[in-house]
Amino acid sequence: PYVVTDACVDVNDKSCRKQCPVDCIYEGDRMLYIHPDECVDCGACLPACPVQAIFYDEDLPAQSRHFAEVNAEFFTGL
Ligand code: SF4
Repeated sequence: PYVVTDACVDVNDKSCRKQCPVDCIYEGDRMLYIHPDECVDCGACLPACPVQAIFYDEDLPAQSRHFAEVNAEFFTGL
């Protein structure tokens, strides 16, 4: 799935949500999160982000790899 990373924190632009065909991008307190089981890997959200916070999981930069778990764990707490 695609993953939202720390660049989203306190930006919360939400342009990505308008692009998502399956509405799998959810709002947390300080950033957005992509539901890993609902994401259909279409990539539509990626160019919509003004701060380049979204990555395909296999393309995550090393310093942001843990955000795959951060996104998944957001939904275990709901
Ligand atoms: Fe939604 Fe597609 Fe982005 Fe997944 S890749 S979060 S399905 S817009």
